[in-house]
Amino acid sequence: MPDTPENLVRRTVWPQSVSRAVGTPIQPSVVYASQSPDQLDALYEGEFAGYTYAREGHPNADVLARKIDALEGASDNGGGGVILGSGMAAITAVLLGVLKSGDHVIGGDQLYGRSLRLMGQDLARFGIATSLVDPTDAAAVAAAIRPETRMILLEVVANPTLRIADMDGILKVARASGVLVAVDNTFTTPRGYRPFEHGADIVIHSVTKMLAGHSDVTLGYVSASDPAIRKAIYDFAVTTGMTPSPFDCWLAERGLYSFHLRYDRAEANAAELADHLAGLPGIKRVLYPTRPDHPDHNRAAALLNGRGGHMVSFEVSGGRAAANALTKAMPDIAFAPTLGDIGTTLSHPASSSHRAVDQRQREALGISEGFFRISVGVEDIGLLKRDFSAGLAAAAKISP
Ligand SMILES: *Cc1c(COP(=O)(O)O)cnc(C)c1O
Repeated sequence: MPDTPENLVRRTVWPQSVSRAVGTPIQPSVVYASQSPDQLDALYEGEFAGYTYAREGHPNADVLARKIDALEGASDNGGGGVILGSGMAAITAVLLGVLKSGDHVIGGDQLYGRSLRLMGQDLARFGIATSLVDPTDAAAVAAAIRPETRMILLEVVANPTLRIADMDGILKVARASGVLVAVDNTFTTPRGYRPFEHGADIVIHSVTKMLAGHSDVTLGYVSASDPAIRKAIYDFAVTTGMTPSPFDCWLAERGLYSFHLRYDRAEANAAELADHLAGLPGIKRVLYPTRPDHPDHNRAAALLNGRGGHMVSFEVSGGRAAANALTKAMPDIAFAPTLGDIGTTLSHPASSSHRAVDQRQREALGISEGFFRISVGVEDIGLLKRDFSAGLAAAAKISP
């Protein structure tokens, strides 16, 4: 049909090709046309595979979800994972899609800041009670379980202190009490730990971070081993409109192709950088899970197969003034409150992720004004060592 002004609005049929596109196509269409009410009925009933309306699902989200399913070992359980508009959307869909008024949920006391806020401030409005417990202490988690406890939400490696949760201990306690365990696996990634293999019920990701890896998309992922729980999460997410954009899913998929390469390189850099930092003047302490001076290094060795991950934390003396001098002396390292970018980023929890935590509690966690967290990237390690040496030298000049 020639495009005349009269029929411009009619969509042109997509050109056929006997050869196939190598890159994944982007499908931005919000709606899908069916042949007849009978066919639409059959689609809704699941008799045919297909899409109806993008809020309910679209191909770019499904392509991305199947890839993360494979990484997490989630492919075979009840429909696989669901992609959502952000990591927080995924956490919200898990908590509000599964829990009901009268339920009780236990969270790790060092969860992602917004997760703590959701649990501490929002769940109560829906009649859901929350307890926060130290996840390195399975006995403390066991003691917090009540008859109405329905779920435990954990991160394996705590931000920013990099303490390692007693996953085996907590999973055992939870199983004995019939409590669901949801793991936010963003920090650890499936390269470090695969929660389903250890008996977790729900796996959550902020895809925004290491999986997508380029700080250009905000997305989340959630998968559940029980199909009924998966459906509850999916339905809640669709109803409340946590839909991901097809373009963002496409970008995240492209980022994911190099996830293994980026992760392994970043991890090797992190281990070497941690040792380098420990030898610099002005450093108070370095935290890296596989270093012998890390409080949980034995658990890290057992749980993470000896892998330390790509996050390193460290502390300098000299308070805020030394912290300011440090970031200014290393302008090539993005000072930004994020993690998982292909390049190294540096964050200062006291002024960002933990600014809402009161000072006494921050001090109890060891998060002083001189405390920094590095999300190590894939740069040349020589460059990184030079940058951090310059930063530490500038901080040391300030420190008393
Ligand atoms: C960033 C992050 C989130 C939230 O993810 P968004 O995609 O930013 O909504 C949740 N959990 C952890 C551990 C994170 O690092």
